[in-house]
Amino acid sequence: MHELAITQSMVDIVLEQAEREGAERVEAISLTIGELSGFVEESVQFYFGFLAKDTPAEGAKLNFNSVPARVRCCNCEQVFQLKEMDWSGPPCGQSDLEIISGKELYVESIEIE
Ligand SMILES: [Zn+2]
Repeated sequence: MHELAITQSMVDIVLEQAEREGAERVEAISLTIGELSGFVEESVQFYFGFLAKDTPAEGAKLNFNSVPARVRCCNCEQVFQLKEMDWSGPPCGQSDLEIISGKELYVESIEIE
């Protein structure tokens, strides 16, 4: 249900913006989703179809912009990218990691008519 709630707030943001700009229809929505956000494009797409029904955003195309998961080692300060959720750790062998990016989830922009 977490994804449903988040998708709902995204739809709210989009509709608010569309209304503010006097748009009749939302053509497309660009979403930024981090690899660590736990969100699956298919689920967002599914919930969106359900939530946007009978609103100006109905039928809008969703464009997903995926942000790779990047972490920094707290020991050697090395920054590296997590590959396929591989938590085997940095070259120095420490496992004290700080997430720098990949948890994002937001509406980047919308196209209106
Ligand atoms: Zn390290």
